[in-house]
Amino acid sequence: METRIELPDLTPLIGMAIAIGLVVYLVTWPIIAANEAPRGRGLVFFLIALCLGPLAPLGAALACCAQDLPRRRRMPHGYRAKYCCRCDARNQIPKANDGFACWRCGEEHSLTPV
Ligand SMILES: [Zn+2]
Repeated sequence: METRIELPDLTPLIGMAIAIGLVVYLVTWPIIAANEAPRGRGLVFFLIALCLGPLAPLGAALACCAQDLPRRRRMPHGYRAKYCCRCDARNQIPKANDGFACWRCGEEHSLTPV
């Protein structure tokens, strides 16, 4: 008498486990990237990591290395910002002025009043 044990076919189960693992991998890293990104740029780094696919950890690493964008300072009411063409310093000029001297290099600039 021959007893033969039939093993169940686990191929679909293994395939599904691999597919679920792949989806978790491809979604988890973009979420990590979004959480590690600087404030206000989570969506950008989420999409970068999502587009990188299997290299998604690289997107999370990029998000960790990213720095905050420089904040734009607001001008006080009645002033405008002008950059010196010689030294690139930002100057705060009253809107009515028709010229200014750069605070850094002293270069004279003419402007049209606003
Ligand atoms: Zn200057």
